[in-house]
Parts: sequence; C-alpha cells; structure tokens
Amino acid sequence: GKILLNHSVPRFFKNYQRRKFPMETYIAALDQGTTTSRAILFNSRGEIVSKAQYPFRQIFPQPGWVEHDPMEIWATTVRALSEAVDAAHIDPKAIAGVGITNQRETAILWDRRTGQPVYNAIVWQCRRTAEICDRLKADGLGETVTEKTGLLIDAYFSGTKLKWIMDHVPGVRQRAERGELCAGTVDSWLIWNLTGGKAHVTDYSNASRTMLFNIYTLQWDPALCAALDIPMDLLPEPKSNSEVYGHLASGLPGLEDLAGIPVCGSAGDQQSALFGQACFTPGQAKNTYGTGCFTLMNVGDTPVRSRSGLVTSVGWQVAGKTVYALEGSVFNAGSTIQWLRDELGLIQSAPECDRLAESVPDSGGVVVVPAFTGLGAPYWDMYARGTIVGLTRGSTKAHIARAVLECIAYQTADLVRVMNADAPCPLTELRVDGGASVSDILMQIQADLLRLPVDRPTQVETTAFGAAALAGLAVGVWNGFDELAALRRSQCVFRPQREEEACLADLARWHRAVERSRSWIENNV
Ligand code: ADP
Repeated sequence: GKILLNHSVPRFFKNYQRRKFPMETYIAALDQGTTTSRAILFNSRGEIVSKAQYPFRQIFPQPGWVEHDPMEIWATTVRALSEAVDAAHIDPKAIAGVGITNQRETAILWDRRTGQPVYNAIVWQCRRTAEICDRLKADGLGETVTEKTGLLIDAYFSGTKLKWIMDHVPGVRQRAERGELCAGTVDSWLIWNLTGGKAHVTDYSNASRTMLFNIYTLQWDPALCAALDIPMDLLPEPKSNSEVYGHLASGLPGLEDLAGIPVCGSAGDQQSALFGQACFTPGQAKNTYGTGCFTLMNVGDTPVRSRSGLVTSVGWQVAGKTVYALEGSVFNAGSTIQWLRDELGLIQSAPECDRLAESVPDSGGVVVVPAFTGLGAPYWDMYARGTIVGLTRGSTKAHIARAVLECIAYQTADLVRVMNADAPCPLTELRVDGGASVSDILMQIQADLLRLPVDRPTQVETTAFGAAALAGLAVGVWNGFDELAALRRSQCVFRPQREEEACLADLARWHRAVERSRSWIENNV
C-alpha cells in the first residue's frame, strides 16, 4: 500500500494541480509619479506580490518652473521594474502584461532615431506657459477649448508646454518640421522606450489632458494644433486604455528577461485610480486625499459640460466603450496637515493630528481655510489666501487640529456639491484612497458632511491596480468588469452619524469663513 501511494499520489496530485490551479499569472504595473517611479507586481487575485520604487530629481530652473530629466524617468522605471520582478521570485514568463499609469500632462519631445530628449520634461506643475495661455484667452480660444477638449485654457495642460519647447530650444522647430521628433506625455515616453521605439502611442485618458485632443471624436484636433503651432505628425497615435500597444523589446538593459511581454494597458494616474476603485457605474466617484485632493466621477458615455469650472476627460475606453469622468481638485488638503507639522510645529506627525482632533468633541468654532495658493473649484479665486477664524481665548491646538481635518472634508464636500449639480446622475457613495484616507476621524467627518457612505478599500494601491486591471483585461487575466469589481474589498465603510442639521450649520459657517479669505491679496501682488 505504501509503495503504491509513494508512486501514484504525486502524479495524481500534479495532474490535479495542473487542472485545478493553472500556473499563476502576474501583471506588472508601472506607476510613474511626480516624485517617484514605482513598479508593483499583482497576482490574478489583485494582490500585491512585490514592489520597488526610486525617486528622481526635481529640477527648478526658475521660480514657478518645474522639470524632470526624461532619461531619469526611464532609468528609475527600469530599475523599479527589474527589482520588483527579482523580489517576486517568479518566472518572468508568468508575467502576462505590463500596465502603465503616470503623472499626467507632463510633456516630452525626443528624437525619433536616437531616442534622446531635446529638452527636459516640462512638468504639470510648471507655470512657465501662463503668458501663452493669456494670449490664447485674449484670442478668444477659451470656448473652443472647452467645447472640444473638456478643459479650460491653463498652463497645467501639455499643449502649451510642447509649444514652449519648440519656440525656445534652438533648432527644435526645424527638426520637428522635418519629422525627426516625437512628442508625448509620460505614458508615450515609457511605451516608446519599452517597445524599443516601435510604438509611438498614447491612451485616450492621457491625450485628454493635452488641450489638443477632441474628447468627442477621440482624435487630435487640427485647429487646436494649428493654434499652438504643433505639427500633427509629432503626436502619438491615440489608443484605447486596454489593448496591446507593443511588446517589451529584446536587449533592454536590466529588462532582458522580460522581452516579448505585451505592454497592454495605460491610463493617467487619476483615471487609473477611478478604474482601480472599480467605479464602473455612472454616479460612482473616488476621492484621493493626498497633498491635494482629486475627485473624479464616472458620468457615463457622454461628456458633461460643467457650470462650475470642473473639467471633463475620457476616463477610459475599454472594449470599444468610452466612459467620461468629471474632475475637480482641491489644491491644499493633506498639505495643511504638513503645514501644521512643519511650519507651525503644533504636531510631530500626521497621526498626531488625528489623536488631537479626537480629543475634542468639535473645533470649538474654529475654522481654517487653507487657501495657501488661492482657491480652486467652485471658487476659482487665485487671490484668496489662508485664514483661521473663530478663535477665542479658549481655543487650543486640538481645536485647530480638528479644524484642519474638517477643512479637508469641507473642500471635498464643496466639490461634490457642484459635481452633483453638473452630472446627469447623483453621487451614490464616495470611494477613497491616498495618504490621508487612513484617518478614521477625517473619513467620518466626510461621511457626515456628504450624507453618503464613504468607502475605504483594503487595496490602498488603487492607482497602480487600475493600470494592472486595464492591462490584465487586454490579455485575459481578468474577463470583464464584474470580475474586477469582485476583487475590490471594502476595509471600512463610514456612514453618516451626526445629525444633518448640525452638519449644515457647520457647512454654512465654513462658507462664511471662505468669504473672509477671498480676494485677500491685490490682483498683481
Ligand atoms: P501625494 O501622493 O500627494 O504626495 P499621499 O497620498 O502620499 O500624497 O498622501 C500624503 C498626505 O497624507 C500628506 O499630506 C499627509 O499629511 C497625509 N497623511 C499621512 N498620514 C496621515 C494620517 N495618519 N492622518 C491624516 N493624514 C495623513
């Protein structure tokens, strides 16, 4: 009996395993952010198997200017990917695809033959093209831009950054006109390099952030390209967010073992987080609580024109179906906690802010308006500055800490209010992520103000997971939205608890405080 078992069980078990548990497959997500390049390997259950990240230089040539070295973006990405694959101890052949998510709007121009950038990447934060934007506005282009691209004219978007490089770097315009150059956002740059220069593409979500892309026709707009003197053959081919763009080239230094793996998903970071949070149904939205806040809402198959200065972009296109996203952002959110720590020295760490805030029942009437760099939607006041109102002799740092958490939630509530007014479908719940979403007290305050469930997932890497999900859909690791939605688990759902009347009174007081912060500095100070 024993001998028989020794011989037959392993064989039986092997066959059984092969049938029941086919070889595990993995997806590599590259999350190319503003300060770090990261790589995360996910298994087919959507779990993180390994990750690696490398920071790179922030270059500030002048006040208000921000650049990155595209070669450093590429080198740190390669290093992160190679290290994450090593750390996973898996057969690289088990990696079914690579997905990309990236800092949006950042613009790069490079030589098609040599792969050398002609200038540094001009980063989304860079304000150097504000004057170009003023001129475009004076020329009356604002309405056309909004109508076609879903955006507003602003230095934030890529179009004027590409124009600046061509206008200011000697010889570049001539080279561009001779067809020697490629232009693109960071997704294009990475895909071009990963495929050894074979694929010059971008995805619809990234293209939506250039101010050159018609979000209705899903094509580059000739009139806008002409207005910005950008030759159209410089631009990458726009593609859906989930398809094979190309394959990893052989002999890429550091990635030799990965040759032939398809690059098959791509989305800008915010859209990727919306996808990673499985907001597949119109009316679903996510908010990322980072330095600032980014709220995106799935508005379905038709772009929405905002009455409050929100923008509309392609969320994604998968299997021929396009989904649009309404987007609003808060400039200062988590940064207000950092300000409490670094500038005021009232706390040692962000978690201490939570503990202080929990030690008091309310802010004792104190309201903080963190308009450090002006106010965004729905106020759009560049001349607002921060203020603290409602101080009494009894106000403590605990009250101020609580007011700081509250102001993050108030600003998000303001955004959600105007989103609901713009969107065809009301918001049903808010899915949350980002560094400050770990704060239970902040999430509870948010749920009370919104009168909606606030849902925090177990998977905190929603941005990277979105890219992995898009790539995995393209190569059959996952088959459809239901399967992806089932991978998302709620870690905690915060529901409204406080009386609505008290919350409305607090919001009214917040709005009075906002009025006091507005138009504080002179227009040209
Ligand atoms: P970004 O990607 O914009 O750099 P992150 O998503 O990493 O931002 O989030 C960083 C922010 O999260 C910081 O501004 C910090 O104040 C906030 N944060 C981190 N931990 C906590 C915490 N325990 N409670 C509240 N806020 C926190």
